[in-house]
Amino acid sequence: MTQARYLCPACGTTIMADRPLWRCDCGSHLNLAPGRGMTRDEIDAADASLWRYRAALALGGPPRVSLGEGWTPLVTRDWDGAAVRFKLESQMPTGSFKDRGTAVMLNHFLEVGVGPIHEDSSGNAGSSIATYAAAAGISCRIFVPATAPRGKVVQIAASGAAVVAIPGTRQAVTDAALAATGDSFYASHNWQPFFIEGTKTLAYELWEQLGFAVPDNVLVPTGYGSNILGLERGFDELMRRGEVSRMPRLFAVQAASCAAFAAAWRGDAAFSPQPTMADGIATIKPVRTAEVLAALRRSKGGVVAVPEDEIAPALLRLGRLGLYVEPTSATVGAALSRLFADGTIHPGETTVAVITGHGLKAADKIAEVTGLGA
Ligand SMILES: [Zn+2]
Repeated sequence: MTQARYLCPACGTTIMADRPLWRCDCGSHLNLAPGRGMTRDEIDAADASLWRYRAALALGGPPRVSLGEGWTPLVTRDWDGAAVRFKLESQMPTGSFKDRGTAVMLNHFLEVGVGPIHEDSSGNAGSSIATYAAAAGISCRIFVPATAPRGKVVQIAASGAAVVAIPGTRQAVTDAALAATGDSFYASHNWQPFFIEGTKTLAYELWEQLGFAVPDNVLVPTGYGSNILGLERGFDELMRRGEVSRMPRLFAVQAASCAAFAAAWRGDAAFSPQPTMADGIATIKPVRTAEVLAALRRSKGGVVAVPEDEIAPALLRLGRLGLYVEPTSATVGAALSRLFADGTIHPGETTVAVITGHGLKAADKIAEVTGLGA
């Protein structure tokens, strides 16, 4: 049985993680207590998946369900004269980085026992959770915006999960999922800290793939910030185990049209969200705003808000480098150019750009960008 503990950042309560929980009784989200981390000797090098870092994960035993997630390629391409490393999280089983978090979260649920689950998602998390629920034999419903990209909704439906389309804003979808918590367990990747426990393996992979070294900069398309928090958690564990001596600078990349973290970074309490083609990061109310901003500050990184008219050109430019990405992930290309141009990062540094989702997810939108028409 798992020995992991939840900590509530609001009221300070500690709770054993021995049953499905998605928040504290006080209403706050929960975090996991700091992990033990691992050293390079503990890597299971024969396992070409994120489970090679199983020793660092807050689970009670080996995985009960896996689709081979993790150990994604790290490829070098020229960008503005710099050799940038692109981390292809798009090559996960369901085509997005979410599988890292989902796999660990679902295995936790299997360890502690869970009945039917539901989740709200703009698409990628929904298709990831629906797919892993199918693999685990768990009944699943996904609440999606009525405007969610068709490729993602089709993927959810193909897994056998029920698709519940909600009209209105992304927040309306979340509200509908919250209202359904009496019927099934709310397996929200945005609330559940075991999801971040999974995304932390991104830090371990970058460290190992770079020859047990820390990159100087990591750029991540950011909606709720689970990759930022996972990177911080993973590199922090490696520091505490003496494997690395510093953190990379973390840059959260947002679409300027809907940039909650950029507004909070500037100190603005409110912002007015506009439509963006980067649907995967169009988050109006992130769950862990203060923690994500603190992680960015500690890392000496920041937030990059990419203007809408820079996203499509970046997508086409990535395509011509052999990187077929969804519009959400194209924001990192535009952000790289901005950070190189203003001297925040330098061509001689080791810079990683995380490609969070595959272009196959968004063929309809990309058809418009390429001039093929919808
Ligand atoms: Zn609490």
